[in-house]
Amino acid sequence: MKKHNFYAGPSILPQYTLDKTIEGIRDFAGTGLSIMEISHRSKEFIACMNDTIALAKELLEVPSGYQVIFLGGGASMQFAMVPMNLMVKKSAYLVTGEWASKAFKEAKIYGEAVEVASSKDKNFNYIPKNYTVPADADYFHITTNNTIFGTELKKDPDVKVPMVADMSSDIFSRPVDVAKYAIIYAGAQKNMGPAGVAMVIIREDALGKVTRPIPTILDYRTHIKSESMFNTPPCINVFAVQQTLQYLKDLGGVKVMQKKNIEKAAILYDEIDRNKLFVPTIADPEDRSIMNICFVMAPEYKELEQPFSDFAKSKGMVGIAGHRSVGGFRASTYNALPKESVQALVDVMKEFEKKN
Ligand SMILES: *Cc1c(COP(=O)(O)O)cnc(C)c1O
Repeated sequence: MKKHNFYAGPSILPQYTLDKTIEGIRDFAGTGLSIMEISHRSKEFIACMNDTIALAKELLEVPSGYQVIFLGGGASMQFAMVPMNLMVKKSAYLVTGEWASKAFKEAKIYGEAVEVASSKDKNFNYIPKNYTVPADADYFHITTNNTIFGTELKKDPDVKVPMVADMSSDIFSRPVDVAKYAIIYAGAQKNMGPAGVAMVIIREDALGKVTRPIPTILDYRTHIKSESMFNTPPCINVFAVQQTLQYLKDLGGVKVMQKKNIEKAAILYDEIDRNKLFVPTIADPEDRSIMNICFVMAPEYKELEQPFSDFAKSKGMVGIAGHRSVGGFRASTYNALPKESVQALVDVMKEFEKKN
C-alpha cells in the first residue's frame, strides 16, 4: 500500500532527492566512487558544496554582505552558537514553543537574555502580539515555525534590532526577506535533506563584536573563512540538500512552493474545521502553521482517538500522532508532501466521520 508520510522530522523528501542520492552513493559525479568514500577536498565535492551554497543563495535571494555555511550539529547547536557569537550584552527572545524555549535557555548562559513574550500560558497555541523588543538588544530571536504545537510567524516581523531566526521547519517553504536578519539557521531534516547538517545564513558585519573567547569550531568566522570545510563536512547530507534545492529550483522556487503549501494546508484545515469529530488546536487562522497542522478529537468524541489513529494507519497514513506534549494529531505538510497525500488524509477523516 502507498504510504503517506506526515512525519514531523526527519520527514518526507522529494523522490528526486532520494533517487539522486542513491545514484551518488553508487557513483558520485562520474568519479566511480561513492559520495561516502571520496575526499571532501576532492574537486568534485568542493563543487558540490559550492553549488549547494549557490542554490541556497539563489532560492532565498540572499543579498550581498551575507554568507551561507553548512555545519554539523543540527539546529540545536545554533541555539548556543548564536549568543556565543552575537550577544555582546543583551538579547531578546520570543518564546513560542519548545524549540524557542531551548534557544532562550542557551542565551541566558552568555548574558542578559530577555523574554519579550511567551505563549506558554496556553500551551503555545498562539503567537504573542503587541510585545516590545528592547531597543538596546543585540538581536531579537524568533522561531518562525513552531514544529511541535503548529503555529507559524508567516511574515517577517518589523523590529528595530537585527533579527535571528530558527527557520528549521519552514525554510524554503516561502520567500523570506533575508535583509531583515543577522542570522537565519535551519536544521536540514524538515525541508532540505537528512538530519545531521544545518544551514546558516549570516550577515558578515554582525560578527566580530563580542570579546568573549569562542572555541574555533564554534566561531562562525572559522566556517566562513574555510567555506564550510574547516573540518570534514557531512558530505552525503550536503549532497542530498543540493539535490533538494536543485529540485526546488526546477519547480520554480520558493514562491511556487509557497502557493502549493498554502493550498495543501487549506485543504486540511478546511476539513478539520468542517468535520464534527475534530477540532484544530490553533484557533486563530492567522497563527496556523502551513507546515505542521495540529488537531485533536472534539471533546465529545475523545474516545475515538485511538480508533481513528488505527483507521488512518490501515489506510497508509504514517506519522500523524501529535507530539507527546500536545496529544491528538499532527500532519506535517512539508514541501515534499504531495497534495494527493493531504487529500488522502482528508478522505480518511471523512470516511471515519461517516462510520461514527
Ligand atoms: C527540529 C527542530 C529543531 C532541532 O533540530 P536538530 O537538528 O535536531 O537540532 C530546532 N528548531 C526547530 C524549529 C525544529 O523544528
